[in-house]
Amino acid sequence: MILEVVKYGQPVLRQKGAKITTVNAEVKHLIADMFETMYAAKGIGLAAQQVAHAVQLTVLDVRAVTDRPSTIEVAGQPAEVADHMPLVLINPEIKPVGDPIVGPEGCLSFPEIYGDISRPEFVEVKALNEKGKPISFKAGGLLARAVQHEFDHLHGLLFIDRMDKKTKEELRPELDALQAETKARLALAKKK
Ligand code: ZN
Repeated sequence: MILEVVKYGQPVLRQKGAKITTVNAEVKHLIADMFETMYAAKGIGLAAQQVAHAVQLTVLDVRAVTDRPSTIEVAGQPAEVADHMPLVLINPEIKPVGDPIVGPEGCLSFPEIYGDISRPEFVEVKALNEKGKPISFKAGGLLARAVQHEFDHLHGLLFIDRMDKKTKEELRPELDALQAETKARLALAKKK
């Protein structure tokens, strides 16, 4: 089922996700719905907060992007990115490594808003997969950026928090408008 992607201004986006203790049927159902929602929105990553569930769960798939390369290393060996997609990360722990590099970023909770964000080039990841089994890998390129973006969501952080002041100021009118629209919609929903 395609879920509603909540937009900037929704309090759940600022909530830290609770750890998932068991990958039960309910979690599996949420994972399936999140993939369906992400693919329908043509996104490469989606965090549970974005579908109004404050839990430590994110789904990713970078295969649709061909002009921004991703790399993956498993057990210290370079691996085929496509072989590890789609990716489910439950209770992820990350260690960003390497020099920060700047790249464009967007977010499904911020439609039509893009900005350059500086993030470390690589990230080491430990998490549970959709079967509840531990996985670990090192990501680079777009996948590293996406993992760090989604990890932030799971902790209530948004990409605008990582923008430099100038970029954020330039986007200020659009951000304020989106936030106001979301809050108005929430107020209306409450009245009903
Ligand atoms: Zn996002």
